[in-house]
Amino acid sequence: MNYTELSVTTQDVMPDKGVLFFKSGLTDFIQVGEPIQNDGGLTFVGKLDECGDTFCPNCSRNLVKNGSLKSTLKHVAIGGIHTNIRVSYARFRCLNIDCQFNTRSQSIPFKADGYRITKPLKEYTEKLLSYGLTLKAVAWLTGLDKMTVKSIHKSLLLSKFTTDGKTLIKPERQAKYLAIDEFKLHDGHKYATAIIDWETGYILYLAHGKKKAVVFEFMDHVGDEWMSK
Ligand SMILES: [Zn+2]
Repeated sequence: MNYTELSVTTQDVMPDKGVLFFKSGLTDFIQVGEPIQNDGGLTFVGKLDECGDTFCPNCSRNLVKNGSLKSTLKHVAIGGIHTNIRVSYARFRCLNIDCQFNTRSQSIPFKADGYRITKPLKEYTEKLLSYGLTLKAVAWLTGLDKMTVKSIHKSLLLSKFTTDGKTLIKPERQAKYLAIDEFKLHDGHKYATAIIDWETGYILYLAHGKKKAVVFEFMDHVGDEWMSK
């Protein structure tokens, strides 16, 4: 981690003695000045590089900058302090007055799709979740609200256990012996059934419903080839 310990003599605004001012660590982010410290943690202020040669996708003429926008993204905590990235980015407009092109905003390369957080924070959140930490613990460690953590968890599970967000992936290993366990759920009325690899103890399949129906579902899911072992 890069950081600079400010020397009091070279700064116009004197920071508290002994305070370390970190860099955000994000590439593509040009940090401007020192981070701002407040109740929400540490906020890094900066901008994106406005790459010069930007051409209109419609007429290929040059685009010009047409104002800028700001966005604040949550970022990975440093030393237990939550951080934010406040980034300015450009809006472009086509120079050709006959062109139908609407203004376009620069995309933020380090923003996680669908969230107001950075990609490193999303990856960190996923890692904590894959270690089996509770949603509450992950929310506390990352500074994210529980709904965001829940949503990241859900997409993580979908990408891990399904092929396209819908179709369940078959168990990797074929099991020699299958064990079946049927149990009542919290409300005491509904049943769930688990199919377990007897030798490893791995849960291969878990579904609502009673034994017989779930076993048939499972056999359909894995197919005859898998079952033949
Ligand atoms: Zn154009």
